[in-house]
Amino acid sequence: MRQITYEPMNAKSVLNAVKAPSMPFDWSINPYRGCQHGCSFCYARSTHVYLGEAADDNFQRHIFWKEDAPSILRAQLKRMARRLPRYVVIGTATDPYQQLEARTRLTRGCLEVLAEFGVAASITTRSPLVLRDLDLLSRMPGSSVNLSIHSLDAGIWRTFEPSSPSPRQRIDCARRLREAGIPTVVFMAPILPYLTDTSELTEELIAACVQAGVRELMPSFLRLSTPEVKNWFFSVLRTAYPHLADKYGRLYWHSSRLPDHYTRPVKARIAEQMARHGLARSDGGNGAARAPAAVRPDAAPGCASAPEPVQLTLF
Ligand code: SF4
Repeated sequence: MRQITYEPMNAKSVLNAVKAPSMPFDWSINPYRGCQHGCSFCYARSTHVYLGEAADDNFQRHIFWKEDAPSILRAQLKRMARRLPRYVVIGTATDPYQQLEARTRLTRGCLEVLAEFGVAASITTRSPLVLRDLDLLSRMPGSSVNLSIHSLDAGIWRTFEPSSPSPRQRIDCARRLREAGIPTVVFMAPILPYLTDTSELTEELIAACVQAGVRELMPSFLRLSTPEVKNWFFSVLRTAYPHLADKYGRLYWHSSRLPDHYTRPVKARIAEQMARHGLARSDGGNGAARAPAAVRPDAAPGCASAPEPVQLTLF
């Protein structure tokens, strides 16, 4: 197995203005490039190409970290003193709580700076390491956490997420966040056709969320948005589930998104299951005065990684 290389990068800025109209937020922070969790469906994989890196498993084996991110952020916020953002989204490109964060504490450092300036954070992650920063989040009014979990099935999880913390740990993390009073949304993301979309598996995940005290869930389907992402995903699929390669080929032949004839019945069934469990679909906020969990899976390329939100009309 190839070694993992960590490389510091000199960043001029840490707080990035988000211009795309499709993104429901204006500011983001991503302390890392590349993600050691290495999810095969991650569409942030393509961003490695901008660094002159391959988007294959290099994405999880060559990790860049923004040296001095907290100091750079502090300087930026000082310059913006008269027009500070209300909230900042952390983890739109790669997981801010991937393994390296335990050592570098860059995400924590950035949270400390945001807290200093009274700016809330909306964090998207697949890692319970976020619990380390509960003390900070608890004193950052309006902050929230989105936890992405695509399935509780151990085999499927490990096939498509080679180095992420287990989904059960993430459910427990959601419970602890909720108990600490942090608004928490679970992204059921991405739903993988013929794998995680079965009635049993979606029901299992929904029931586990409810038991953990989660009140909002955002399901969304797999999108294979670029050739790099599609190639890598198919290479993993062909190795682990060769009998599904043709079926996926037919679904994604013409588009990065799934066709309606596939999504419609799955959406309806998940809507029914959520309604039966009294679970609300997150639509970017529940009316509370907080940074919207508005970082919908379709808008957050990193840990959400499933840019086609299920449109439910139940709530
Ligand atoms: S989906 Fe999230 S956790 Fe997985 S590789 Fe991408 S950024 Fe990392």
